[in-house]
Amino acid sequence: MRIAMAKVMSNMNWTILALLTVTLTAGAQQPAAAPENAQPAPVTQQPASAPQDPQPAAVAQPSPTPAVSGTAQPVIAQPAQAQSTPAQPAQAQTNLVPPTTMDQVVDRVIMREKELIKFLSPRTPIVETYLQNLTQDPQLGPIPRDDRYFLGRMDLSDSIDRSDYLEGKGKDKDKDEGMEKHLLGGITNKFKIQYKPLGFSWMIFADRNDFDRQHYDFHYARREFLGDVRCLVFDLTPKKDAGHGRFLGRIWVEDQDFNIVRLNGTYARPTRNFYYFHMDSWRLNLVPGYWVPAYIYSEEGDFTAGAKNKIAFKAQTRMWGYNLKTAAASDELTNITVDSVKDDTPTAQDASPLAAERQWQQQAEDNVVDRLQRAGLLAPEGDVDKILQTVVNNIEITNNIELPRPVRTRVLTTSPLETFSVGNTIVISRGLIDVLPDEGSLAMVLAHELAHIVLGHNLGSQYAFNDRMLFSDESTYQNFGFKHIPEEEAAADKKAIEMLKASPYAQKLETAGLFIKALQTRAPSLGSLLQPHLGNNIAQNGTMRMAQIGASAPALDWNKLDQIAALPLGGRVKLNPWDDSVEIVKAQPVAITSARDKMPFEVTPFFPRLSRYGTGNAPAATPAPTTTTTAADASATASN
Ligand SMILES: [Zn+2]
Repeated sequence: MRIAMAKVMSNMNWTILALLTVTLTAGAQQPAAAPENAQPAPVTQQPASAPQDPQPAAVAQPSPTPAVSGTAQPVIAQPAQAQSTPAQPAQAQTNLVPPTTMDQVVDRVIMREKELIKFLSPRTPIVETYLQNLTQDPQLGPIPRDDRYFLGRMDLSDSIDRSDYLEGKGKDKDKDEGMEKHLLGGITNKFKIQYKPLGFSWMIFADRNDFDRQHYDFHYARREFLGDVRCLVFDLTPKKDAGHGRFLGRIWVEDQDFNIVRLNGTYARPTRNFYYFHMDSWRLNLVPGYWVPAYIYSEEGDFTAGAKNKIAFKAQTRMWGYNLKTAAASDELTNITVDSVKDDTPTAQDASPLAAERQWQQQAEDNVVDRLQRAGLLAPEGDVDKILQTVVNNIEITNNIELPRPVRTRVLTTSPLETFSVGNTIVISRGLIDVLPDEGSLAMVLAHELAHIVLGHNLGSQYAFNDRMLFSDESTYQNFGFKHIPEEEAAADKKAIEMLKASPYAQKLETAGLFIKALQTRAPSLGSLLQPHLGNNIAQNGTMRMAQIGASAPALDWNKLDQIAALPLGGRVKLNPWDDSVEIVKAQPVAITSARDKMPFEVTPFFPRLSRYGTGNAPAATPAPTTTTTAADASATASN
């Protein structure tokens, strides 16, 4: 298994090694990690009979911080469940009689888990882990000290393995691996942690190979609702001789088909020098009959006075792109149909030089958008785009900007805060939309990219050549890049501010300015979150994009509870792990009661509202993507 660390740890002093490894279960599949299998290390810690406290840490609501008035959260009707997911294997257990005893329920749970493992085995979802190491701030509590980012594809076939999108990207890979070896064999007079990306995604299944009665005791605890779904709750403890790395914790099982919908706990009996994180793993009912792993929250840390444990971090792992292969296949069919259609362009002439140049740009733009979507890095066109296009449209209209083609907007599925534009398409990351406090700040971010388009700072015409689209999904970041030179960045800032001043957002930029200040304050500890993979850095070495707006904002004051400069991650945009569609979360605002509730740019636990497939609250599939959405369409649909 390759391990790529998103960031080279240059200073060993602070590095902590806690090898989160994938133990026995993994050992069988991963020769590299096998030694545990061979030597029956003395089991001294965590006797099987002592189930760990099922981590009530995740109880707090994941803080969709109060929507500031005028936030970009237009109420948009959920699209009907019009387009269901591509043909799924029929549900296996439809003709089974309902279990009548708890023993029969457990048998059913085991059977369903094995069926899920089989169902997912041909899939290679994308896995993203974003982790913040924490330090204690006397005023704000635990705040990020530094961060890490991992992005990869997970192969769910025989074993679980992942390949990384970030490998070799501007980093010295050998150095990483050397350091890793060193840490692996290292003697620890300090407590060191090394994060293994796979570790964070390990808890997608309780136990991939041995989830059965021979290895586990199931203790029924109670019934409980998770969202709309009534669940049976079981505590699981590995049997005495079950070996290392067995799941220890609690599972929630929905009471119709007996699929596991949530796992919360850790793995038992780490071998020497190994350490297992605690995880809270959630599944969503995105296809009939199956609950698909979607989110995993991990947290370690003890900030009580005198605590000795030096590990302190919070991490969010998201999975999506389960249906990428299928989507690509149906694309091919569409393309064939399109090819056979007669070209109905009104002009009978060849394109003029300028028209040809524009067509060329559009070809490049379409190629890039299509390729990113196939790599699982771009959400299909949907309702969030309409909201973004409305904001862009508001700026365009008030500035009398008329472009030969309408500006399109699309959402990157990833967390790092970045935007870029290619041709007339503005791309903004899910993570950036999440943390923006209001519509004015969204307008500020989009205005910068719109300025690039208006000024003709066109990048990416080389992608009109189709050979440049032929690369593996994992190497997308090596093959694509949309970074402007500093002069164009400065010119875009200048033009953007000019346009904002003439726009409906002119009087609403105070919070946008606070956002820039908050970002500037936190930037030194958020290197990975601010590391763009395709566009320009929005906080390059302390120089902020749109700094002028920050300069005119009031002073940043964490103690002012009505001053919300930036939101936590994950509060706004919900990504459907099956079809990659995105929607705006309409969570109830939660009152902020202390400065610690603000959590700007921070990672929080997940607490999705579970619902069954096809019921109102289930994440809906977006309608089939159309090629263009006119600005008029957008403004008609999205309003706030
Ligand atoms: Zn720029």
